[in-house]
Order: sequence, then C-alpha cells, then structure tokens
Amino acid sequence: MESIRNAGFKTATQRKKINVKLPNKRISEYYAENVFIESTMKKYLSEDAFIGIKNAINTDTKIDRNTADQVAAAMKAWAIDKGAKSYTHWFQPLTGATAEKHDTFFVPTADGKGMESFTGDALVQQEPDASSFPNGGIRQTFEARGYTAWDPTSPAFIMEIGAGITLCIPTIFISYTGESLDQKTPLLKSCHFLEKAALPVVNLFDRHATKVIATLGWEQEYFIVDEALFYARPDLVLCGRTLLGHSPAKGQQLDDHYFGSIPERVYAFMLDFELEAHKLGIPVRTRHNEVAPGQYELAPMFEEMNVAVDHNQLVMDIMERVGRRHKLKVLMHEKPFQGVNGSGKHNNWSMSTDTGKNLLSPGKTPKNNLLFLTFFVNVIKAVHEQADLLRASIASASNDHRLGANEAPPAIISVFIGSHLSSVLEEVAKRVTHGKFDEDKNATLKLDIHNKIPDVLLDNTDRNRTSPFAFTGNKFEVRAVGSTANCAWPMTVLNTIVANQLKEFKSEVDKLIKEGENKEGAILRVIRRYINSSKDILFEGDNYSEEWAAEAKKRGLNNVKTTAYALDFLNTKKAKEVFIKNKIFNEVELEARSEIFFEAYILKLQIEARIMGEMALNEILPVAITYQNQLIKNVKGLMDLGLKKEAYASQLALISKISEHINVMEQDVRSMVEARKVCNKIEHASEKAKAYCDKVKPYFDTIRYHADKLELLVDDKLWPIPKYRELLFLK
Ligand code: ADP
Ligand code: MG
Repeated sequence: MESIRNAGFKTATQRKKINVKLPNKRISEYYAENVFIESTMKKYLSEDAFIGIKNAINTDTKIDRNTADQVAAAMKAWAIDKGAKSYTHWFQPLTGATAEKHDTFFVPTADGKGMESFTGDALVQQEPDASSFPNGGIRQTFEARGYTAWDPTSPAFIMEIGAGITLCIPTIFISYTGESLDQKTPLLKSCHFLEKAALPVVNLFDRHATKVIATLGWEQEYFIVDEALFYARPDLVLCGRTLLGHSPAKGQQLDDHYFGSIPERVYAFMLDFELEAHKLGIPVRTRHNEVAPGQYELAPMFEEMNVAVDHNQLVMDIMERVGRRHKLKVLMHEKPFQGVNGSGKHNNWSMSTDTGKNLLSPGKTPKNNLLFLTFFVNVIKAVHEQADLLRASIASASNDHRLGANEAPPAIISVFIGSHLSSVLEEVAKRVTHGKFDEDKNATLKLDIHNKIPDVLLDNTDRNRTSPFAFTGNKFEVRAVGSTANCAWPMTVLNTIVANQLKEFKSEVDKLIKEGENKEGAILRVIRRYINSSKDILFEGDNYSEEWAAEAKKRGLNNVKTTAYALDFLNTKKAKEVFIKNKIFNEVELEARSEIFFEAYILKLQIEARIMGEMALNEILPVAITYQNQLIKNVKGLMDLGLKKEAYASQLALISKISEHINVMEQDVRSMVEARKVCNKIEHASEKAKAYCDKVKPYFDTIRYHADKLELLVDDKLWPIPKYRELLFLK
C-alpha cells in the first residue's frame, strides 16, 4: 500500500497554479471598498451625526445614544447595500486568535414577516459568555458574563467569505466587572497614556501640536507548504510545527532563496490575498522570499497603532483562508522547521504628532533635532529600565525556539543605534557642562548636534540584523516579536514604558527649570544623565555571539531563554508599579494575564509532548520495525545460501543500530510520559510551567534525535510522514 506521505507528495507535485481573477482596475479604485471609512460615512450619515462621531473619536469622549443610533443605521444601510446579511462584534481575546459571533440583521415582526434591524445598542455593546475564553481566574471571582464594546477608533469592515458577507465591528472585550480580557483594551490604554505623556514633552519644542499617536508598521514572516503534505503530518496539523524531521542536505546554505523569484503557485496565492487585503483597506505593499526555503514575508505601510494591530490580525486570518483556496497551508509558527530560520514579526514603532512630525525622525532645524534627541534618548532609557518587561512581552512557547537559538535576536534585550548616533550621544555626554549653565557653550553644542544628526539618514544602511531592538533611521524596530504573536501585547508594553519614562523626563526638566535653569539647558542636562545611565543597554556587535552573552552578563543584562522564566517578570514589583500606577492594568488584570500566559505555555507543551509520543510510537517505531524485519529476512536468506558473515555484515550492523535507536526512543517516550504525570500534579501555574520546561521539554530533543536518525536509516519508501525536502521546496 502506498504511504500517505507518498500519495500526498504525488498530489502536491501534480498541483497546478490556481489562476487568480484580479479586477481590471487600479488598486486605488477598490482600496478600502469594504471599510466604513470617512468618505463612506459621510455618504450615509447626516452632517450633524458625522461631525458628532468625528469629534467623539478625536477628543476621546463618549458617543451619545442618538449619535450611536445614527451611526448604526448608516452602517446597516451601507452593509446591506454591500450584500451583508449579518453583523458581528469582532474582538481579540487572549487565545491568540480573533473572535466573532454573527447575528442576522433580520428579525421577525408581528405580522409574520420580518425586517432588517440594527440599533445603536447592538452597535455599542454585546454580551458574549466570558467563561469560554481565557480569563485567568477572573471568571471564578466574578460573573461569567463579559461585554464587547464598540471601538470607534478602528473602522468597521465587511468580511466576504464565499457567499457569506458580514459586517464586522471592532470591539474591546471586558468582564462583567470591567476587567480587560483581551489584547485591545490595554493597548488602547497604553496609546492614550503615551499620548498624554508625550504631548507635554513635544510642547517643550512645538506649541502647536495637540495630539501624539503611536505608529506601527509590522513585517510578517511565514512559511508555505502544500496542503496535502501538511495534512499528512500530525505535528503540523496539531502543533503548527514539525516535531520530527531530518534537515535536508540543502537548506538555506546557498542563500539562494532570499529575495529570489517567487514560485508561481505562491505568487498566485499572494496576489489573491493582497486583493482581499486591499479591499479591506490594509495597505500591504511589500512581498518577498525570506531566508529559509519555503519562507516569505509581507509588509504593509505603517499606520496608527490600533488600526495596524487589527490589520495584522485580519491579514493572518485572510492568508489562512485564501491559502486553502490554493491548496496551500500558511504556517505562521515561529519555528516550523528545525535547521532553517524561523519566522518573526518585526514591529516598526514610532510616534507622530498632528502637526505631521515623526518624533523619531531627525529634523531640519536645531530645535527639531533636539526634539529628536530627546525622544530617542528617552526610548533608550525606557528600554534600559524595563528590558525585562519587553522580554516578557515577546515570550511564548513557540517564540522560545527563536530567541536564544542562534538565529533570531537572542533573549538578551539590547538596543542598536548605529555608529553615527553612538558618537553623537558620546559627544553630548561629554560636552554638556556641569555646574552653572553656559548659554554660549550649549548653543554651540546644539548646533553641532544639529549638524551631525542629518547624517543619520545616510547611516540608515548601517543595519544590524542581529539586534532585538534596532534604530532604523526614523523608527525603532522590535525584531524579537514572534510571527504568531498579536502585536498588541509587545506594543502595549513599549508604549507604557516609554510613556512612563517621558513622564519622568518632563518632571525632571520642570524641576531644573524651576531651579533657574534655562529650558534647553535643562533638557540637555537630563539627556546627558540618561545617556550615561543607560549606556549598558547599547550594543553594536553580533548579538548571536558567545562574546556578547559573556559581555551582557558582565553588564548585568538578563538572558532569560525560556518563557517559563521570562513570564516571572510580569509579577515583579517593578512591573506592578509601571502597569498599575499608570492604570494600564489593575492588580487583578495583571495577575490574570500572567496566569493566562503561563497556562497557554503549559498547554502548548503538553499537546506537543503528546503528539511527540504518538508519532514516535505509532508512526516511526512501526516502520523502523518493518524495515528491520526486511533486513532480518535478508540476512537469514543470505545465511541459508551459506554465504560468509562478511556478506551480510552491513545488514547486521544496520539491524543493531535500528534496535538501539528504537530502544532509546521508546524508553524516552515512556520517561517523558512519567515526567508529564509528575508535572500535571503541580497546581501553581508558574511552577508547573517551569517543571514542563525543565523536566518534559528536554525529551523533545532526545526523542527527536533518535527519530531523525531512524529517518536516515529506514527505506525512504516506507517513511510515513512527508520529509523536509518535500515540504520545503514547493514549486
Ligand atoms: P526595511 O526595514 O524593510 O528596509 P523600511 O525601513 O522602509 O524598510 O520600512 C520597514 C517598515 O517600517 C515598513 O513596514 C514601514 O511601514 C515601517 N515604517 C516606516 N516608517 C515608520 C514609522 N514612522 N512608524 C512605524 N513604522 C514605520
Ligand atoms: Mg525590516
């Protein structure tokens, strides 16, 4: 009988590219046609209602009942014109996925017929059961009910899935008692906090600015495999990554995949999902092959953070769905294949004002460059003070395979700023004078800084691909975020720690001014102190090297390689201070969140351990025995013929090698099951996570080692699961 693997491989290689029907129009003609954007709103709303909703969004004030009713009516009319029959609140619980529950607009009426209805009430609030979503124990303490509440700062959109057309309303998700149970609530709070903290600092330089927003441009890496091969591998189906599999002889050594020409089947898929993304107003722009075979990347233009986060979640959804149409499987996992690069999600982050200024972009005047330097140094100081929180924000079972695994940024958080800016900082630190403020000296310094900084733009090429947190000309790029992650969580942490830092900066500057210092002198003096106190976080060298690990240790920087330990940073006094004092979380919310993350980690490892055991015992072991029996039969035959021992020496050696691997593998599976049983008895989530990490996870490597050795020994035709070389080289 032909193995599933071989049948799958045949199907995969026989597949033809699916032709995509692209509209015969420019992208600008259909861009955002499925989004309730301003121009659409204007068409469907009265002028008063339009101004009402715009004001409410701009000033962060509550939307009154009357306006909500009018917006609901307009949304309904627009959605029905587009063919929608249902609507849903669309939210981001702590499962990692998005959630929706559809209701039809249709309601029956007394006359036995019916009508389409959608009121302000239905727009503003819904009540899904919170108990079926991760809630970190909040549910036990309070009521099970939860609320989704309309977030008018992210526009409603229409999702077309085949014949199903649904109006989706972005919402936040909170418990009955108001605790956040999702990704968006703390994100929005952190954006608000950043705005409140950054604006007074901006106003030191620019009195006209009245608003500061955080911006995010994500870059998404992913793998693509053929669907038939995907379904022949239980590990891919159930864990999103291969738990076994020998690396192919040719992987990424030749660097021939990066920016290479895109295989036609993949290209067709890309065009298809880009079309859907554009209709949803997601400004996807860049597509290319990534480093590993089978790996790709996509990036949009950056946007206001809240919208960018929603768009990334939507894109991941769309890619998965459109992939299926092409009989392809998109793998978002951070490390689907051992031996080739994993996937990340770079988060390009900055802040900009309503006067059109990017706060991390060097400017054309001395004043603007002092503003740039102020924000730049404050970000560095924030990361220096709160590196541990950033580390915690990128921690997940799947991202553990990248961080510290010699390819992605390491688990040590450091900041790369390039040689040019390093020298600017050094000079500032050296030249800002102690004691009495010297106006002339500082004026010259300000000019000198100004003269040096424009070169930063030229220095843009000075890239360090190994840094977890790099300045790239006019933004910081957080590179350590995992490819499956929701950007909201690391961005919540970054916004919060930077805002907290800016608040401190402003009060220190104010104090110096009160003591008689002039404004710019005060700013420079505080900056100088920050440069000196956060030096240790700056690193320009190779982040993958052993020397850096040793150096970082000397500097006292943490190097926490696994989630089970990194999550402890959420429970420190420092973490509580920055989150609770600044009202991003209350105590209950913060505890619940860390509980949920620990639980997710444990469950992931538990599932992987089970699948690992099943695959080793039910797939690998039987074929190893089958092949061994063939060898035994062969040896017996040769013996019957009366041949000398040398004639079957190799076969005998193979038989015993196979036995050895089978035995150790089987023994390791049994030991792993025992270890799991011990861990499962531990009640405390944090301890249980550590036990899983230290006692269960190590078996993944040893079991895999023997399974992969067997893959090299056993007849290729018998091997039950698709091999790497079949999965990775899709044409
Ligand atoms: P690359 O890093 O690939 O060389 P770019 O530096 O042009 O390319 O941009 C990378 C990403 O950074 C893009 O997704 C872009 O949208 C984003 N980006 C550019 N400017 C900003 C900004 N001010 N805020 C946030 N993201 C930005
Ligand atoms: Mg980049």
